[in-house]
Amino acid sequence: MLKNILSKESCASCRLCCVFDRYDVWETPVFTEYICERIRYAKPDAEFVAKDDGFIFKVKELDENELFSCPALTENGCMLGDDKPFDCRIWPYRIMYVGGRRAITIASICEEMYNRPLSQLTNFLKDGLADKIFEYARRHPEIVKPYYEGYPVLMFEKIPER
Ligand code: SF4
Repeated sequence: MLKNILSKESCASCRLCCVFDRYDVWETPVFTEYICERIRYAKPDAEFVAKDDGFIFKVKELDENELFSCPALTENGCMLGDDKPFDCRIWPYRIMYVGGRRAITIASICEEMYNRPLSQLTNFLKDGLADKIFEYARRHPEIVKPYYEGYPVLMFEKIPER
Protein backbone atom coordinates (compact mmCIF):
# COMPACT_ATOMS: atom_id res chain seq x y z
CA MET A 1 0.00 0.00 0.00
CA LEU A 2 2.98 2.27 0.54
CA LYS A 3 4.87 0.91 -2.47
CA ASN A 4 5.03 4.36 -4.05
CA ILE A 5 6.36 5.90 -0.86
CA LEU A 6 8.67 3.32 0.70
CA SER A 7 11.09 1.38 -1.44
CA LYS A 8 11.23 -2.40 -1.14
CA GLU A 9 14.99 -2.11 -0.68
CA SER A 10 14.80 0.10 2.42
CA CYS A 11 12.23 -2.20 4.04
CA ALA A 12 14.21 -5.33 3.15
CA SER A 13 17.35 -3.96 4.75
CA CYS A 14 15.57 -2.94 7.96
CA ARG A 15 12.74 -5.27 9.14
CA LEU A 16 12.52 -3.45 12.48
CA CYS A 17 8.74 -3.48 12.21
CA CYS A 18 8.77 -7.31 12.26
CA VAL A 19 10.83 -7.66 15.44
CA PHE A 20 9.48 -6.79 18.88
CA ASP A 21 10.55 -6.54 22.50
CA ARG A 22 8.42 -7.12 25.58
CA TYR A 23 7.10 -3.55 25.51
CA ASP A 24 5.93 -3.92 21.89
CA VAL A 25 3.45 -6.75 22.33
CA TRP A 26 0.59 -4.27 21.78
CA GLU A 27 2.19 -3.41 18.41
CA THR A 28 2.04 -6.88 16.88
CA PRO A 29 -0.11 -7.16 13.74
CA VAL A 30 -3.66 -8.48 13.68
CA PHE A 31 -4.08 -11.49 11.39
CA THR A 32 -7.11 -12.98 9.73
CA GLU A 33 -7.83 -16.70 10.13
CA TYR A 34 -6.63 -17.28 6.57
CA ILE A 35 -3.27 -15.64 7.30
CA CYS A 36 -2.88 -17.68 10.50
CA GLU A 37 -3.42 -20.83 8.45
CA ARG A 38 -0.84 -19.72 5.89
CA ILE A 39 1.73 -19.10 8.61
CA ARG A 40 0.95 -22.38 10.41
CA TYR A 41 1.40 -24.27 7.16
CA ALA A 42 4.99 -23.00 6.97
CA LYS A 43 5.62 -22.88 10.73
CA PRO A 44 3.47 -25.49 12.48
CA ASP A 45 4.63 -24.37 15.94
CA ALA A 46 3.31 -20.79 15.50
CA GLU A 47 0.52 -20.09 17.99
CA PHE A 48 -2.15 -17.41 17.86
CA VAL A 49 -4.63 -15.93 20.28
CA ALA A 50 -7.96 -14.34 19.39
CA LYS A 51 -8.17 -10.55 19.46
CA ASP A 52 -11.69 -9.28 18.83
CA ASP A 53 -12.45 -10.47 15.28
CA GLY A 54 -8.82 -11.26 14.45
CA PHE A 55 -5.77 -13.02 15.86
CA ILE A 56 -2.38 -11.97 17.17
CA PHE A 57 0.53 -14.31 17.58
CA LYS A 58 1.28 -15.75 20.98
CA VAL A 59 4.38 -14.40 22.67
CA LYS A 60 6.27 -16.46 25.21
CA GLU A 61 7.60 -14.98 28.49
CA LEU A 62 10.42 -12.61 27.57
CA ASP A 63 13.45 -11.42 29.47
CA GLU A 64 14.11 -7.70 29.81
CA ASN A 65 16.06 -7.25 26.55
CA GLU A 66 14.89 -10.30 24.67
CA LEU A 67 13.54 -9.79 21.15
CA PHE A 68 11.08 -11.92 19.26
CA SER A 69 10.19 -12.02 15.58
CA CYS A 70 6.85 -12.27 13.89
CA PRO A 71 6.34 -15.92 12.86
CA ALA A 72 5.83 -14.75 9.26
CA LEU A 73 9.35 -13.34 9.09
CA THR A 74 11.80 -15.48 7.15
CA GLU A 75 15.39 -14.95 6.02
CA ASN A 76 13.97 -13.54 2.81
CA GLY A 77 11.59 -11.14 4.54
CA CYS A 78 7.86 -11.52 5.11
CA MET A 79 6.50 -14.81 3.78
CA LEU A 80 3.06 -13.30 3.21
CA GLY A 81 3.81 -11.08 0.22
CA ASP A 82 0.65 -9.25 -0.83
CA ASP A 83 -1.32 -11.09 1.90
CA LYS A 84 0.38 -9.09 4.65
CA PRO A 85 -1.99 -7.92 7.39
CA PHE A 86 -3.39 -4.44 6.88
CA ASP A 87 -1.35 -3.24 9.89
CA CYS A 88 1.83 -4.14 8.06
CA ARG A 89 0.72 -2.75 4.72
CA ILE A 90 0.29 0.72 6.21
CA TRP A 91 3.33 0.64 8.50
CA PRO A 92 4.79 3.01 9.79
CA TYR A 93 1.40 4.73 9.76
CA ARG A 94 -0.68 3.44 12.67
CA ILE A 95 -4.33 3.79 13.44
CA MET A 96 -5.16 4.51 17.06
CA TYR A 97 -7.91 5.77 19.33
CA VAL A 98 -6.96 9.25 20.46
CA GLY A 99 -9.40 10.78 22.94
CA GLY A 100 -12.08 8.37 21.73
CA ARG A 101 -11.59 9.18 18.02
CA ARG A 102 -9.77 7.23 15.35
CA ALA A 103 -6.58 8.95 14.24
CA ILE A 104 -3.59 8.13 12.08
CA THR A 105 -0.24 8.38 13.82
CA ILE A 106 3.29 7.50 12.79
CA ALA A 107 5.90 5.26 14.40
CA SER A 108 9.19 7.02 15.01
CA ILE A 109 11.12 3.76 14.79
CA CYS A 110 10.83 3.86 10.97
CA GLU A 111 13.57 6.41 10.32
CA GLU A 112 13.06 6.26 6.57
CA MET A 113 9.59 7.77 6.91
CA TYR A 114 9.83 9.60 10.22
CA ASN A 115 12.63 11.87 8.97
CA ARG A 116 10.55 13.17 6.09
CA PRO A 117 8.89 16.59 6.27
CA LEU A 118 5.57 16.57 8.10
CA SER A 119 3.88 18.04 5.03
CA GLN A 120 4.99 15.05 2.96
CA LEU A 121 3.69 12.57 5.52
CA THR A 122 0.29 14.24 5.63
CA ASN A 123 0.16 14.72 1.84
CA PHE A 124 0.53 10.97 1.35
CA LEU A 125 -2.48 10.56 3.62
CA LYS A 126 -4.55 13.24 1.91
CA ASP A 127 -3.86 11.55 -1.41
CA GLY A 128 -6.42 8.83 -0.70
CA LEU A 129 -4.46 6.75 1.79
CA ALA A 130 -6.23 8.14 4.88
CA ASP A 131 -9.64 7.34 3.38
CA LYS A 132 -8.55 3.74 2.80
CA ILE A 133 -7.18 3.41 6.34
CA PHE A 134 -10.26 4.88 8.04
CA GLU A 135 -12.59 2.84 5.86
CA TYR A 136 -10.77 -0.39 6.71
CA ALA A 137 -10.72 0.51 10.41
CA ARG A 138 -14.49 1.05 10.40
CA ARG A 139 -14.96 -2.51 9.10
CA HIS A 140 -12.16 -4.02 11.22
CA PRO A 141 -12.05 -2.16 14.55
CA GLU A 142 -9.73 -4.84 15.94
CA ILE A 143 -6.81 -3.22 14.12
CA VAL A 144 -7.20 0.10 15.96
CA LYS A 145 -4.68 0.36 18.80
CA PRO A 146 -5.10 2.40 21.97
CA TYR A 147 -3.10 5.62 21.80
CA TYR A 148 0.51 5.07 22.72
CA GLU A 149 2.54 7.99 24.04
CA GLY A 150 5.15 9.39 21.68
CA TYR A 151 3.31 8.66 18.42
CA PRO A 152 2.71 11.98 16.65
CA VAL A 153 -0.89 12.31 15.52
CA LEU A 154 -1.06 13.19 11.81
CA MET A 155 -4.77 13.12 11.08
CA PHE A 156 -8.11 12.55 12.82
CA GLU A 157 -11.01 10.81 11.15
CA LYS A 158 -13.62 13.35 10.05
CA ILE A 159 -16.76 13.40 12.14
CA PRO A 160 -19.67 12.72 9.76
CA GLU A 161 -21.90 15.75 9.17
CA ARG A 162 -25.45 15.48 10.52
S1 SF4 B 1 3.27 -10.13 8.91
FE1 SF4 B 1 5.10 -9.86 7.69
S2 SF4 B 1 5.39 -7.63 7.53
FE2 SF4 B 1 3.96 -8.04 9.24
S3 SF4 B 1 5.25 -8.11 11.08
FE3 SF4 B 1 5.01 -10.21 10.31
S4 SF4 B 1 6.80 -10.54 8.98
FE4 SF4 B 1 6.60 -8.34 9.31
